[in-house]
Amino acid sequence: MPIDFDDREDGQTEPEERLLARTLTSSDDNEGSLRPRFLNEYIGQEKLKDNLVIFIEAAKKRQEPLDHVLLYGPPGLGKTTLAGVIANEMGVNIRITSGPAIEKAGDLAALLTNLDDMDILFVDEIHRLNRAVEEVLYPAMEDCALDIILGKGPAARSIRVDLRKFTLIGATTRAGQITAPLRDRFGMVTRLDLYTPEELSRIVTRSAGILNVEIQPDGAHEIAARSRGTPRIANRILKRVRDYAQVRADGVITRAVADEALKRLDIDDKGLDAVDRRMLEAIIRNFGGGPVGLDTLAANIGEESVTIEDVYEPYLMQLGFLARTPRGRCVTERAYTHMGIPYGMDSGQLTMDN
Ligand code: ADP
Repeated sequence: MPIDFDDREDGQTEPEERLLARTLTSSDDNEGSLRPRFLNEYIGQEKLKDNLVIFIEAAKKRQEPLDHVLLYGPPGLGKTTLAGVIANEMGVNIRITSGPAIEKAGDLAALLTNLDDMDILFVDEIHRLNRAVEEVLYPAMEDCALDIILGKGPAARSIRVDLRKFTLIGATTRAGQITAPLRDRFGMVTRLDLYTPEELSRIVTRSAGILNVEIQPDGAHEIAARSRGTPRIANRILKRVRDYAQVRADGVITRAVADEALKRLDIDDKGLDAVDRRMLEAIIRNFGGGPVGLDTLAANIGEESVTIEDVYEPYLMQLGFLARTPRGRCVTERAYTHMGIPYGMDSGQLTMDN
């Protein structure tokens, strides 16, 4: 039986509901039905899938659990989905939790002791585990054991409790914040990349099928091209375009319908929303095109630095609109063109080459 892992134990939601938000919002409540269950439904990330197929088959042959896996990359790219796919392919159960939800060492011990043999424990935002919890994880990952300290002071002693064999799958948006000892304990560390428009187009077409809405190939392509490389955003836009198609058109998502709906949602032809454009404009108008430090920029546009780093920048950099330099963020000539602002003398003179 494939496992439906719709419920996130951390109940993670976004305070502000942006259509382009990469993290979960309440409108993604039924995201579960769109999640691929097996590797052959999981679109894109080909290299990673090729490796996983071998990795999974070898583990199954040996009748051993999979080695621990660390997945990193921006939100909405399919880390949680992939963890579920791995569980289904291995034919084991998955428990889903997140770094901030595990407050005490005892919480983690409870989770670990409740796992069945070969089960998967998925820890989202694993970089946010606190130190005490992380230390419990080391022997658990390495020796399938928990070291429990009984008592305090000179009378304290430690006992070792054996755990069943399990696989830890960690996910993080910030690989750089994982401590070296934790990182070293993962057998496989892989990055998920932004999806190409063609891959997103396939994802949108698949989702439209599940949602029972008719979509033409160029309609799917239009949505894909404007979803900033992120399946979660593509699915979210698809749902809004479907609403529009059903109310204002004859229910079929054509290119024209998708384009009109996206315009109404204030998403431009490159997939940028109002916040992206505000950010580019602020760098151009207030900081001469850059370089500007992340925190200064965040304060200037009223967004948090981490949100800028995790959510906006990866896509703007992929488009070649923004460059990170040691002195700060710079807007490129290409971004000026997109924004319709002449590439000025005072612009920091940055091109894609530097
Ligand atoms: P993350 O954990 O990286 O934030 P999720 O795994 O929650 O991302 O994925 C968000 C949504 O995007 C899922 O509900 C799923 O429908 C869709 N999705 C992600 N990756 C893929 C993929 N490779 N193929 C099809 N749909 C995907």
